[in-house]
Amino acid sequence: MQTLRASKCGLSTAQLPSSILDVIEALTKAGFEAYIVGGGVRDLMLGLNPKDFDAVTNATPAQIKDVFGRRCRIIGRRFELAHVYSGRELIEVATFRAPPKKAVTSASGMILRDNNWGTIEQDFIRRDFSINAMYYQPHTGIVLDFCHAIDDIKNKTLRLLGDPTLRFEEDPVRMLRTLRFAAKLNFSIAPEILEIFTPKLTPLLRDISPHRLYDESQKLFTMGHLNRVLPMLIDFDIWSQLFAEIPPQISTFIERAAINTDQRIQIGKTINPAFFYAVLLWKPFLERCEFYLSKGTVPAEARAQAGLDVLKRQATRTIIPRFAETFIREVWEMQTRLLSPKPQQIQALANHARFRAGFDFLLLREKSGDASTQGMGMWWDTYQLMSTDEKERAISQYNRQRAKSRRKAAVVEETVDARAAQVEIEPLVNEPEPRNRRDRKSRSRPEKPVQKAVSASDGSAIAYDHPILKRKRVKRDLSHVVFGPTQ
Ligand code: ATP
Ligand code: MG
Repeated sequence: MQTLRASKCGLSTAQLPSSILDVIEALTKAGFEAYIVGGGVRDLMLGLNPKDFDAVTNATPAQIKDVFGRRCRIIGRRFELAHVYSGRELIEVATFRAPPKKAVTSASGMILRDNNWGTIEQDFIRRDFSINAMYYQPHTGIVLDFCHAIDDIKNKTLRLLGDPTLRFEEDPVRMLRTLRFAAKLNFSIAPEILEIFTPKLTPLLRDISPHRLYDESQKLFTMGHLNRVLPMLIDFDIWSQLFAEIPPQISTFIERAAINTDQRIQIGKTINPAFFYAVLLWKPFLERCEFYLSKGTVPAEARAQAGLDVLKRQATRTIIPRFAETFIREVWEMQTRLLSPKPQQIQALANHARFRAGFDFLLLREKSGDASTQGMGMWWDTYQLMSTDEKERAISQYNRQRAKSRRKAAVVEETVDARAAQVEIEPLVNEPEPRNRRDRKSRSRPEKPVQKAVSASDGSAIAYDHPILKRKRVKRDLSHVVFGPTQ
């Protein structure tokens, strides 16, 4: 073990938020050892902006709770952890871990339960990469390096601690982490990892829950180097484990969307990882639409069914949360609406909550050479920049053009409805079937018959369907869904 001077590693307390400094200080004052560890230390040393700071200590979760009281919550089962609130931030505080006394593992060697507290030396051995295993004590200004991690930082090398095969077997997600860090940090992967990182090991990922894999896929999408990691996912046979139904090819559309996502992150814009799922699954969705159309299903029904099918199949690998599923289906449905809008609906469409994401998606398709958008991506792009008068003129011109020659039907385009166009837009997608049994039950329960009226105390009649008597319905709040890439 070598003790390094933090200042010599390019670290200073000035780079640290007060939240992490407070947590380390409180634990140290209470007589415990406490360090910053993991990605925070690594990224600071590399001159990057850390996503967050994790703390590690020899205090047990119960002792951490004693130090922080109501600011602390113990979470986790496999890994018990303390969440400490400092100001508006949350700091994850872990206790040094020893190797499991009696390993609770799955048949393939995966660790399932693991809460044996240990020493810092034992804790270090259990971490994944050398560069993630440096312990920084900001108050004393020292960094503990047990494995010459500093050399790996200098040589830009990603090295697993211990035997790579064993470490991948213990936790197959480390395969994804290898590619993520190699892409994010632009590090080379150590030869001993490359040697064993073959399609023989990747099926171990099938043991990982689709929830955890969804979280990991989100980290891949949002790390800022999505475009760099995509070919690696294919080369290392991770793609087929994560996205079984998506052909392992990076189309121009996928590549453009990845570049766009990275650019947005670079300039500090938010992104919605579900948007990239919508991009990845677009081709399988179109193929599934074709399948239903060839069976004579009406277009709207074909799209609805195809959307559900494709997402259901993807959920066997990475389970997509319900709100993200709805978002994806709405983005797809928007493609049809934006391609051939009813003139009266144009303004309403432009104000629709899903317009931005749908439009970005359409424009990305168009810019990657998808002729089936028929130039409508650019049309909407120009439309948004117009004054109210110009918009009116553009709509009537569009209307005339449309009347002259109805746009040819695109692959998933619905024949334009002959019914009187309504300005209001029908819901883009119907809520899918609830996943759990309780919700399904409540959905199938018949509605109570509506009685006509009751008498109020003043003798006047109050209709039973009067809003005041209606149960308050909580609508799903989609406001936290951030739209996808913009140009
Ligand atoms: P970032 O937060 O930038 O994605 P990170 O290295 O901080 O990167 P976290 O997932 O926050 O990653 O984990 C914090 C630390 O916990 C890691 O640096 C590593 O030391 C350890 N760790 C996380 N996941 C694993 C794992 N699957 N196996 C072993 N150690 C892990
Ligand atoms: Mg981290």
